[in-house]
Amino acid sequence: MIRRVVPYGVALVAVGVVGAALGLAAWALRLPRIETFLLVFVLLAGAIAWRLGRGPAIAATLAFAVVSDYFFIEPHRGFGTETVGDTVHLVTGLLAAAAVIQFVHVARRHQVLLEKRKDLLQEVSPRIIQSLDSDEILNTVAEATVRVIDYQHFRLYRWDESAERLVLVKSVARADPYIGIDWQTVTLALGEGITGSAAQSKRPILVPDASQDARMVYPPGVAPIEESVLSVPMVTQNRLFGVLTLARLRARSLSLEDLRVMESIAAQTALALANAEQYAEAEQTIKALAMIETLQPTDDAVPDADIDRRILQGLVDLSQADLATLRTLRDDGRYHVAAAGGRSWPKNAVSTGEPLTAAQVAWLSDPKVTVYVADPATDQKLPDWAGRGAQLAGVKAAVYLPMRVGQHFVGFVGLQWRRPRWFRPEQLGRLQLLAAQAAIALDTRRALERERGRAEALAELERARREFMQIASHELRTPLTVIRGYASLLEEGSLGEMPPPAQQAIRTLMDKSSEMRAQVERMLLLARLEDGAAPPQMAPLDLRTVVSEAVDRVQPQVQLKEGRLRLDLAEAPLPVFGDPERLGTALDNLLQNAVKFSAGPPRIEVVGNRENGRIHLVVRDHGIGIPEAARRHLFEKFYRVHNPELQNVAGTGIGLYLVRQVVEGHGGRVQVDSHLGEGSAFQIDLPVATHGE
Ligand code: ADP
Repeated sequence: MIRRVVPYGVALVAVGVVGAALGLAAWALRLPRIETFLLVFVLLAGAIAWRLGRGPAIAATLAFAVVSDYFFIEPHRGFGTETVGDTVHLVTGLLAAAAVIQFVHVARRHQVLLEKRKDLLQEVSPRIIQSLDSDEILNTVAEATVRVIDYQHFRLYRWDESAERLVLVKSVARADPYIGIDWQTVTLALGEGITGSAAQSKRPILVPDASQDARMVYPPGVAPIEESVLSVPMVTQNRLFGVLTLARLRARSLSLEDLRVMESIAAQTALALANAEQYAEAEQTIKALAMIETLQPTDDAVPDADIDRRILQGLVDLSQADLATLRTLRDDGRYHVAAAGGRSWPKNAVSTGEPLTAAQVAWLSDPKVTVYVADPATDQKLPDWAGRGAQLAGVKAAVYLPMRVGQHFVGFVGLQWRRPRWFRPEQLGRLQLLAAQAAIALDTRRALERERGRAEALAELERARREFMQIASHELRTPLTVIRGYASLLEEGSLGEMPPPAQQAIRTLMDKSSEMRAQVERMLLLARLEDGAAPPQMAPLDLRTVVSEAVDRVQPQVQLKEGRLRLDLAEAPLPVFGDPERLGTALDNLLQNAVKFSAGPPRIEVVGNRENGRIHLVVRDHGIGIPEAARRHLFEKFYRVHNPELQNVAGTGIGLYLVRQVVEGHGGRVQVDSHLGEGSAFQIDLPVATHGE
């Protein structure tokens, strides 16, 4: 209440102060009062109207009228309008003041309105711009617009690039007759209706009376409405996003000012929609990249064809391509269709594209070639196969994305549209990024597959080798025993006396068959060890027996080469817990090596004793020795010392490997000590078998 009274008080005080000041000045300067005062008071009324509003200005004018006597009339005559001239002066003054007050009032109201709109716009803009969801943007725009312009109907059309039409996506009716009219049925081509015309020219159109405008398109069955219509295109960077159309009942109810405001809203909406679109694309890219990342190269459960399809789908989702194919390099050096798809690809249709040669797709492996083909019908760089395919499918635009890993060209993706399409560089960049990522995923997967294939082939080879060894050794063992049996009968003379040359031949026969038997035993043991199927036959035993038997077995070979073998075993038993056959084979190997690798007649010592709770066995020779570099590898499978002098010494390189396997399998260790040209000593130590083992 007080706040409303204050301006009146201020106005009256102003009248009093100005009146007094004028009176004083007039008296001192002897001014002609009537015109000067009238003018000053009219201006004062205007100023009060501007600053304090219309009410206080009227009050001030009335106050001024009351004291007018003093100012209009010669002061000495007293108060009252005595003459007609006085009355005319008073009325003129009042009318002039009223006119000024009204004018100021209207101007002020206009300014306030503009400021209010500006404030509203400022408040609304960030809300439009901030949103990254296009639906939310459109809702905000509809709601924001009504706060700035009191429309009766709001229509928001989006430009559908694929259909090339304006489609109504939002319609807000706030009064009859708009409520109840179904505008959704109306879609507009460029240049059609006021909305279409605004879209075509990319400029706003204000129609004072739509019922009189031939361009206006109403839904079927709707009579023209007397309304003012405003259509403003939403454009950013020369790209059309849609059109905002407003309507108000009555002709000329929308003004140029409304047009300005709407231009600002439309520009911001276009910007926001462009942002939202980019954001959605970026999100889609991230999603597609994440999807490709989940294509675990080691995931056997997912078949290759599925991986290819998923990659292609990621690219189709991102690009909205009508047709799409993924071609990958196969073993035959050609690029085969690995997956086909796209928005208008017939469901379950299988692509039967011919495989392409490297020469046919060479243009794609050139990094200078742009992947984007605006018009497949006329583009010169498009090779024949691509041009033909594009024409057959009615393709209007295509993008070819090479999939490269470094210099290696893995394959490529072709995306096609049946309508003209233009791409922003960042859109192409995203597609290329995705293709590059897919290339890495595919390449890693294929490399792992190749690796796995190789490993499987190796394992198969190994299995076959083992099987062969097992079969071969088994098959050889029996006839060999028979041969050795007869040979020993012949040697003993049980089958009759032999002439001396024949005896010599029989000895060689025995010697070579021993070598062969040893080799067969080695192969058999290796097969058993690797198979793991036949466990060792462990039993408590005296190692002296095993050693003596092995020495007996090698003696004929030592004698054949006119060598010597000295056996030095402890008096007391050497108890071990072990497999006598395997330990025997291990010893055979050491002893045979000692004979084999002696240049002249072999001199061999075999020492077995028990020391510090372990059993030690040494097989020493005075043969050729082993180079130091070779010692580290000596116990590896198939390892043989490279020595041209040993060319004609037979061997397979599994003997020492077996020795170590057997010894370690008994909880023992084997070592070698050797001096080149002086000989070698192989030492085995085994745990002593405790009682009861
Ligand atoms: P192989 O005797 O069938 O060649 P081994 O595994 O028994 O296979 O031996 C591997 C290699 O170690 C032999 O080829 C040989 O060069 C070397 N070697 C083994 N024992 C001796 C030894 N007592 N003296 C010298 N060299 C030896």
